[in-house]
Amino acid sequence: MKLLSMKSRRIECSLHGAQIENGVFDRWFGCQVCSAQAAKLIELEQKEKSKCEDIDRIGLPKLYRNVSFKDWEKTDNRQIEVLKTTLSYAQKLSQTLRVPNLVLSGNSGTGKTHLAACIARYATRKLVRCTYLPSASFMSEIRLSWDFKFRSKHDFEIIEYYGRVPVLIIDELGIGDSVKSQHDLWSFLIDQRYRDLLPTIITTNLTVTELQAQITLQRMHRRFAVQFY
Ligand SMILES: [Zn+2]
Repeated sequence: MKLLSMKSRRIECSLHGAQIENGVFDRWFGCQVCSAQAAKLIELEQKEKSKCEDIDRIGLPKLYRNVSFKDWEKTDNRQIEVLKTTLSYAQKLSQTLRVPNLVLSGNSGTGKTHLAACIARYATRKLVRCTYLPSASFMSEIRLSWDFKFRSKHDFEIIEYYGRVPVLIIDELGIGDSVKSQHDLWSFLIDQRYRDLLPTIITTNLTVTELQAQITLQRMHRRFAVQFY
């Protein structure tokens, strides 16, 4: 195959000195070391990009998309304990989904969502798929599903979907959830995940006792690791 035969010539690369350059027809490909380095760079960029896409897929709000454990504000020793526990939870979660559920309970502004987002980002970087679900969005999805004119899904389909994602982060559970049927929905969802041995991370401004009073967690509350701060 004369036409496709590769030819080569000596060149002087400004970065790598004397090199051999290959070519086909009248096209020359430049310094081989430079090309190898460029290819490596493109590969790294693509890896980084796909990591970013995985992070985007969690669905975190912009405020929490780039958070990390190290920028969580620690003001007292109790918080250092909380940080240690959540970091070790994230590490375990990255190795196996067989971890207990986690409740991050505390007042607004204590950084619960920040820590939940850190866990999700950490696990995602280790290729564990996490899904962020603000409790208000879940309820509006459910309410829309009850509107037979506009719905695109039934409520059981929504629950089934969130019931099956590998790691679910329910943010701000308990705020404004005063309707009994809403509590049943949450119980149903968390129960389904429990049966399938899939971990759920919950942030709430309720105490764990209040949360348990609202949502039926009898069978599973032993599995919840609890954080107070
Ligand atoms: Zn070069």
